[in-house]
Amino acid sequence: MPITPLHLGILAPLNHFLPGKVSNLSFILVTLWLDASAIGYYAFGLEMGEFHGPETHSFIAATAIAGMVSIPGFIYYLLKMLFTGISNEKEAMAWLLGSYLGGLSHILLDAMVHSEMFPFHPLAGNPFYWGGMGEISLVLVLPFIWLIFQYVSYTVGLARKSPVVERLLKRQP
Ligand SMILES: [Zn+2]
Repeated sequence: MPITPLHLGILAPLNHFLPGKVSNLSFILVTLWLDASAIGYYAFGLEMGEFHGPETHSFIAATAIAGMVSIPGFIYYLLKMLFTGISNEKEAMAWLLGSYLGGLSHILLDAMVHSEMFPFHPLAGNPFYWGGMGEISLVLVLPFIWLIFQYVSYTVGLARKSPVVERLLKRQP
């Protein structure tokens, strides 16, 4: 995938049709982790690392990274439950699902456009490659824009509920 944020486009239909079932935060964290070397290179001018090497861009590596993102989330929800007494297994499941969906969809999408990837590392070869970089990017642009709209409307909704904003709005004629 040429641009990391396009991976996040997958979240838009999930947020719409399965609200609250997939954590956006864990999905984003895994996505950023997988593309960390590319982000470091393009955004911060760091040394060019391995962009699509099997240590990040393979199903086994993505599963491990998703697991590493899942663990702190699980600890957080467990502690929250212990301290508040309120069960939050739905949030914990959403965190887990976000991590793994973020990781596995990332590998699948990247494998379709990067011939040099070994998605089934340690096995060689890439059965998913078909070179559709332009097509896949184009297909993901729309859901990515949809996602931005979801975030904006969510933020506006939150702001409207804030007592400060409520007071300000009431003051207007
Ligand atoms: Zn990637």
